[in-house]
Amino acid sequence: MRQRLESLLRAGVVDFPAVGVLAEAPAGDPRGSGAGASSTGTASGSPASRSLRAGAAGSTVSIVRDSVPSESSTEGAARSSVANVAPAASSAAVSRSPHPAAQPLSVDERVAALEVLRSEVCACALCPALVQNRSRTVFGVGNIAPRLCIFGEAPGADEDRQGIPFVGRAGQLLDKILAACTLNRDDVYILNTLKCRPPDNRTPSEDEVENCRGFFERQLQILRPEFICCLGATAAKALLRTTSTLGRLRGRFHDVAGAKVIVTYHPAYLLRNPAAKKDTWEDMKLLMKEMGIALSSE
Ligand code: SF4
Repeated sequence: MRQRLESLLRAGVVDFPAVGVLAEAPAGDPRGSGAGASSTGTASGSPASRSLRAGAAGSTVSIVRDSVPSESSTEGAARSSVANVAPAASSAAVSRSPHPAAQPLSVDERVAALEVLRSEVCACALCPALVQNRSRTVFGVGNIAPRLCIFGEAPGADEDRQGIPFVGRAGQLLDKILAACTLNRDDVYILNTLKCRPPDNRTPSEDEVENCRGFFERQLQILRPEFICCLGATAAKALLRTTSTLGRLRGRFHDVAGAKVIVTYHPAYLLRNPAAKKDTWEDMKLLMKEMGIALSSE
């Protein structure tokens, strides 16, 4: 199986409606509050999942959650209920041509391929300054057959301790943004550009991004999402290989390996600049429209 997977991978396989909700984001540290506990709830339980099923015209796939929070554990992916995944209506212009697409992996192959990649990440020591300071690597979590991936910057202190992305205050805000989109963490897969926490939460260096590029690009090759939401400039520049500003990248879809990519502000920025929430909500509405997910406020 491992040889087969390695071969495949080498081949390339707000003014939110919940504005009130977002405004209620607690100032305290929600560490351990369950924000990262994607094992709670199921993909079939959220309104969006119901919406996806209702609109599904295509094949049925098994939704499997990648729920391993620690370096030492095995994949431990929990199979959840079966859900239909509807192809997105394509109406948005893309800024770049799609790259050649590899054959999608089966669910079992995804589970195994992610475990291979996770083990490589755990053993990685390419960034000495990060390796010296990390408690653990933070690989990714969520639905491994996702329509949507959330792509962030790097782990913070809470993530470094728990091994799960977006579990601090920013993570709690992300949960609220997803909820405003009728989604929950089990509907999406969440990963970061860097798998290790930069000291003092500094911005990742260009070298560190390039060191980790092989990991996040392979992760996305395995996951094959239809949509990717980049949170913040670092994630957007890394994924899109651009030096453009976040402001110039927002408001339209970009193409990366056939996935439609939208760029918006990082939740940590929104916590510091609440006025930008309305802009993020505009971005999310654009994304939900393209995904065919109806929002009650629309
Ligand atoms: S950030 Fe990525 S490339 Fe750097 S040490 Fe961690 S896993 Fe390796």
